[in-house]
Amino acid sequence: MKNSVVRTLTFVSLATLPIAGASEAQTSPDTGTTVIHAGRMFDSERGVFLTSHDIIIKNKRVESVGEDLPIPPGAREIDLRACTVLPGLIDSHTHLLYLEDIVKGSFSEGTKAVINEGTPLRALHGAARARTFLSAGITTVRDLGNAGRFGDIALRNAINDGSVDGPRMFVSGPGLSPEGGQFPGLQERYKAIAEEEYRVVRGPEDAALAVRENVTYGANLIKIYSNNTPNRGYLSLSEMRAILEEANMYGMRVAAHATNNAAVWRAVQAGVSSIEHCYQVDDTTLALMRERGVALVPTDVDSITVVRLLKRDPSEKKPTSEQIPLILRGNRDRLMRAVKAGVTIVAGSDNYIQTGVPQGEGAKHNLFAYAEAGMEPLQILRAATWNGAELLGMKNRLGVIKAGAYADIIAVEGNPDSDIHALENVRFVMKDGTVYVGRQ
Ligand SMILES: [Zn+2]
Repeated sequence: MKNSVVRTLTFVSLATLPIAGASEAQTSPDTGTTVIHAGRMFDSERGVFLTSHDIIIKNKRVESVGEDLPIPPGAREIDLRACTVLPGLIDSHTHLLYLEDIVKGSFSEGTKAVINEGTPLRALHGAARARTFLSAGITTVRDLGNAGRFGDIALRNAINDGSVDGPRMFVSGPGLSPEGGQFPGLQERYKAIAEEEYRVVRGPEDAALAVRENVTYGANLIKIYSNNTPNRGYLSLSEMRAILEEANMYGMRVAAHATNNAAVWRAVQAGVSSIEHCYQVDDTTLALMRERGVALVPTDVDSITVVRLLKRDPSEKKPTSEQIPLILRGNRDRLMRAVKAGVTIVAGSDNYIQTGVPQGEGAKHNLFAYAEAGMEPLQILRAATWNGAELLGMKNRLGVIKAGAYADIIAVEGNPDSDIHALENVRFVMKDGTVYVGRQ
């Protein structure tokens, strides 16, 4: 149902876009130029808001940005003077081909995805979820595994060739994991099931081979599990170093799932670019991350998401709403310690659990979690734009509205700099110069 809603929105929005001179556009040749008039605009590079700026877009890229720019002849004009315009958001930790439902008991959901769903159907389900991200204003995702046998690469390619509407995807292929992947309770005899979902690494040579496999089949980056929670294994330091050496040779970055201090410390020593989750970490390790320029992707949930999850949780012994601040206290504390330590924060939702709202909308609540912890709206907006682009190696091309950048632009009603929840009111989405949502 939600997908038909998204499709309807996309259709309606294109039909109702306020395009000046639309009737002339039918008779005059399409110059491929668009001008957006922005009431307010987020400059993610400097971390400030500007007023009354024009953005000229030509051939999928931003050509120029400034005040009162002359309108090129034949340009299509889009009036967003009543809105706040931002670069398309970047979610740096997604799993578009994976969804758990707490109602069904999350521990068996992973094996079910492999055995009962299968990669082709997962890719199709992922395509439906991808639309919800784009409609929510998330125009780029870094998708980190749990996509079966390279289903993430199939979906990325389908989006890139225009068959499927979705965000730009930067994908890892199967994550490189210690024994057993992340399937708890799997009997040894059936370990091959985990190896359908993860690339289980056995020794440094095998670790390097795993990188080569993922490179060969089309990955943009490498995902590793320094520890494979909820299982107990760790990759060895020599395995991680072999992975980094091989990945560096291809100019690929490595993202590390690491949930406790030892796992974080070891992954940073090996040379990864980002630490995902990082639930338990001490200040010495945070200082090392700062020193080495390793980004933190805090995959935190906000209190609204916890309430939604608790509503769906069928267990009798679930926490009460009064206990929610206690549940979230640890994450909030480590996020603010990381901010204080000067660690670069990159927004990533890890929103793979069904909360009853479209996945893309649910993913934005990750940003509200940062606000609840005490991050300032401007810091959060940078984490979801500029910092995300930098982590992807796409600085100045994504996550920013400036000359030369890809035309990934969104507009919201309200002022996200004073209330981050304004990001819920997305009124316009452009990716690569194409308008996908344009209601007003
Ligand atoms: Zn994840």
